[in-house]
Amino acid sequence: MIKTALVTGSTSGIGLALARAMAGQGMNVVLNGFGDADQIGEIRAGIASDTGMNVTYSPADMTRPDEIEAMIAAAVSEHGSLDVLVNNAGIQHVAPIDEFPVAQWDAIIAVNLSHAFHTTRLALPHMKANGWGRVLNMASAHGLVASPYKSAYVAAKHGLIGMTKAVALEVAQQGITVNAICPGYVKTALVESQIPETARARGMTEEDVVRDVILAAQPTRRFVGPDELGQMAVFLTSDAAASITGAAISVDGGWTAY
Ligand code: NAD
Repeated sequence: MIKTALVTGSTSGIGLALARAMAGQGMNVVLNGFGDADQIGEIRAGIASDTGMNVTYSPADMTRPDEIEAMIAAAVSEHGSLDVLVNNAGIQHVAPIDEFPVAQWDAIIAVNLSHAFHTTRLALPHMKANGWGRVLNMASAHGLVASPYKSAYVAAKHGLIGMTKAVALEVAQQGITVNAICPGYVKTALVESQIPETARARGMTEEDVVRDVILAAQPTRRFVGPDELGQMAVFLTSDAAASITGAAISVDGGWTAY
């Protein structure tokens, strides 16, 4: 029986790498995220032709519970099941808390935390009915430790790891595992856009931010590759990972070993 994986925020960056990796393992895939319609069409067709799998796309906005509900319903009706849920969509804003825009706080909590509540509550009944399921929450090293000026992101990612543990306990005897992946820095649009913000907040040049803030946190002194995360996600969906649940798995070049 072909499994179906839904990856939120998979039109770029880490989510796209995970979607490609899942399709490469013989899963049908539901893509989601924002972007240019033609480019998304090309991504969808490219993964389908490279892998031979059925790849669909939902434009649902992860801040909108009604759109999330429609996305889950469409995934099940188009593919016949929903076996793997990857809650990956995320945004960032960097500012001191006393200058943090209220709208940015609300948006970060909605996308980085609450969307995973809505997808999970709606997907789990389908997994329970099949007696098998995998939920992967894309947390961060910032789900385990903090950095200044990222209060909303750090709060949301710590919360996501907490929710991961609670849900893992709820479904532990139903063939469903729930885990968080905690990457260090990966060179995606999300990181590239925060370099100028961090430079402003810390009064540094952008080059200094990359060397002295970003890669300084990572003992390997290199960015984590999106494909490394794709392979971790594939392993967590395998039967070999059936006893890994409620875990927060670091893929951070040693950052949180400090
Ligand atoms: P990215 O900006 O490349 O991708 C984010 C994706 O989320 C895009 O597809 C975007 O369209 C989508 N998205 C944003 N808002 C959305 C919304 N409201 N509804 C639907 N989709 C939405 O970023 P990325 O670096 O690939 O980040 C992916 C995840 O990995 C995020 O949760 C991020 O917090 C996490 N993460 C990233 C890093 C890193 O260094 N890049 C490190 C740790 C964790």
